[in-house]
Amino acid sequence: MNIILLGPPGAGKGTQAALLVKKYGIPQISTGDMLRAAVQAQSPMGIEAKKHMNAGGLVPDNVVIGIVRERLGEDDCQDGFILDGFPRTGPQADSLKQVLAELGKTLDSVISLQVDTDALVVRLTGRRTCTDCGKGFHLQFDPPAEDGKCSSCGGELMQRDDDTEATIRNRMKVYQQQTAPLEDYYRKEGLLVVVDGMGDISTVKQTILAALQDC
Ligand code: ADP
Ligand code: AMP
Repeated sequence: MNIILLGPPGAGKGTQAALLVKKYGIPQISTGDMLRAAVQAQSPMGIEAKKHMNAGGLVPDNVVIGIVRERLGEDDCQDGFILDGFPRTGPQADSLKQVLAELGKTLDSVISLQVDTDALVVRLTGRRTCTDCGKGFHLQFDPPAEDGKCSSCGGELMQRDDDTEATIRNRMKVYQQQTAPLEDYYRKEGLLVVVDGMGDISTVKQTILAALQDC
């Protein structure tokens, strides 16, 4: 199953992708995670990406397209993949189409999570991530069993550098301008499924699973 999770920052793409990985045994491809790994490794790409990420802007298309192209060609994507945070612009969507055609693959569904702006801000400011295994939590909605500690591996939880209120506002603006038009793009292709992302994590999961049953 080849899926895209679309939606603004904080909509729950990473959270739902992790649940779909468990359910279908296919990999999550998060461009945000891959870019953060490059930042952490201080690679030339990471150093360049960091400037854009900390300002809440987008990393240039050619950089992101390059990493996705490489990732989709790997063996574990043979039976499917969940794209989380890609594509985010028209050129990225066009490139994805081309890459998939080259690999002899097609998309099955584009799930667009709908969440109010106020709820997004609450979700992002309360988001915490494990520094060791990358598992996501929320201080209020999905808290760890022990303060500051990952319930899965015991690692230390941290707040992302870009989850500050000023950066969040810019990321929302960028989403509206550059990424929201992709809803129309995929609606025209007959792939778009709009999902109410305002429910709790398990309710949203059930809605997504029901939508994917038709694929
Ligand atoms: P995205 O990947 O779309 O940026 P995340 O999956 O990281 O968003 O979710 C952002 C934050 O909101 C996380 O802290 C997560 O635990 C929390 N969250 C995700 N889905 C829900 C939900 N349905 N209700 C409440 N909080 C949620
Ligand atoms: P995310 O983890 O999806 O919230 O992404 C964090 C940041 O990484 C974004 O604000 C962008 O700066 C960058 N990023 C992630 N995915 C992309 C993409 N597809 N195109 C451009 N920039 C991206």
